[in-house]
Amino acid sequence: MTLLSELQALLGASHVLTGEDAESYVQDWRRRYRGAALAVIRPGSTEEAAAAVKLCARHGAPIVPQGGNTGLCGGATPDGSGSAVLLSTARLNRVRAIDTDNDTITVEAGCVLQAVQEAAAQAGRLFPLSLAAEGSCTIGGNLATNAGGTQVLRYGNTRDLTLGLEVVTAEGEIWNGLRGLRKDNTGYDLRDLYIGSEGTLGVITAATLKLFPRPVASCTALLTLDSIDDAVELLSRARAGFGASLTGFELMGGDCLQAVVRLFPQQRLPFEGESAASPWFALLELSDSESEEHARERFETVLGEAIEAGLVKDAAIAANVAQSKALWHLRESIPLAEAELGKSVKHDVSIPISAIAGFVHKTNALLQARFPGVRHVIFGHLGDGNLHYNVASAAGQTESELLALQSEIYGVVHDSVQAHAGSISAEHGVGQLKRDELPRYKSAVELALMRRIKRALDPQGLMNPGKVLQA
Ligand SMILES: Cc1cc2nc3c(=O)[nH]c(=O)nc-3n(C[C@H](O)[C@H](O)[C@H](O)COP(=O)(O)OP(=O)(O)OC[C@H]3O[C@@H](n4cnc5c(N)ncnc54)[C@H](O)[C@@H]3O)c2cc1C
Repeated sequence: MTLLSELQALLGASHVLTGEDAESYVQDWRRRYRGAALAVIRPGSTEEAAAAVKLCARHGAPIVPQGGNTGLCGGATPDGSGSAVLLSTARLNRVRAIDTDNDTITVEAGCVLQAVQEAAAQAGRLFPLSLAAEGSCTIGGNLATNAGGTQVLRYGNTRDLTLGLEVVTAEGEIWNGLRGLRKDNTGYDLRDLYIGSEGTLGVITAATLKLFPRPVASCTALLTLDSIDDAVELLSRARAGFGASLTGFELMGGDCLQAVVRLFPQQRLPFEGESAASPWFALLELSDSESEEHARERFETVLGEAIEAGLVKDAAIAANVAQSKALWHLRESIPLAEAELGKSVKHDVSIPISAIAGFVHKTNALLQARFPGVRHVIFGHLGDGNLHYNVASAAGQTESELLALQSEIYGVVHDSVQAHAGSISAEHGVGQLKRDELPRYKSAVELALMRRIKRALDPQGLMNPGKVLQA
């Protein structure tokens, strides 16, 4: 029997897609990568996923796991050979258990992030992972890329939110590591190997995640600032003033928000004139466990002092939940509005917060010296030292002229990241986008250890080949 007919017999023909039915799966959402697949399979249980992986292993067929296909590094797109089986987790979408005494939720990998947030809310708890793609991305994808988002400052990234995993190994065994334990020192931490492995070590099929109390009140403000140096100083004051209650600190270059309101006229900046044209904006959020009054008093005290110190030029404090949502919506619309600014060369970098202003000044200057007139489109999670540092075309430069310079621009920016002791991928992962950059910025020892782990857990090299590590 062929692999295709064996998969059909196992999963039912309607869950083995080929031809046109497979089209939307073999291309990433930004249309940067396009591949081909022998078939797209949609197992409905962990056991089915394990049996399908076993069949693929027996036939020597590569497997590409895919969740919501919202990733930004081409990690979920197969190569063009048509030999890979794309394993979609769309049908692994059950909430298996909520334990409010243990503050945990156990969900299958194909659960959409927003559905997990909603299930937690229904149980009176908070699942704090939050990102603009939350309506489509899945927990499996979040785990596989160790996603960050807007609340890392307070709650950590996906790794920090995870207690246990269930995984189908590259050879089709099921590892049930769904432990709801906050302490478990029983040897090597397999969970942490699979988190962030981008589908290259196995298929994550379920996870036990941490839940938190829901905040009683929150305050959100959009602020205008003159410089990134002022933003770093404001962050330091906000951390000192709010402590663990500071749940969000986002930084946005003026051109990013100005592009949002140009592209989506129904959205508005809560400022006029000079403030609306500010070179920098910061979005701050405080979550309080006492009361609305307590939250507001703390918020206004710290912001008032920052205004007096000249760090903040203008401030719009949300008066209610709807206004707070509108401010967050402005921030979350930036990735979509970037299209309005034209194609750009994108970088997702993290830098120690103390070095981040120096990094931006230095890298801007290096780029201007080498590629005069290119525009710097900068936004990100400043509270985590994570910037999306994107480079858009100069006036009169076509998109293809800019993209022809992509690898040179990567070189300038990533060398500068390394010189500032940073990372070339803060939260989006490596995928195929940064695979060839990795050897330049990781030591030979680190790369050799990564290869040994890959060989140990995926001896046939069938799990998502060509992603993260070069062949
Ligand atoms: C508008 C927008 C905003 C975004 N904002 C953020 C942000 O703030 N922070 C952030 O970190 N990311 C962000 N992202 C990127 C993206 O949403 C995340 O990387 C997300 O975690 C990917 O989830 P997914 O289900 O779509 O995964 P996919 O795109 O389907 O896959 C991503 C990678 O994970 C692997 N994978 C998927 N599921 C599994 C599984 N079950 N087992 C093993 N491997 C698997 C795939 O093979 C691939 O390598 C954003 C994306 C968009 C479009």
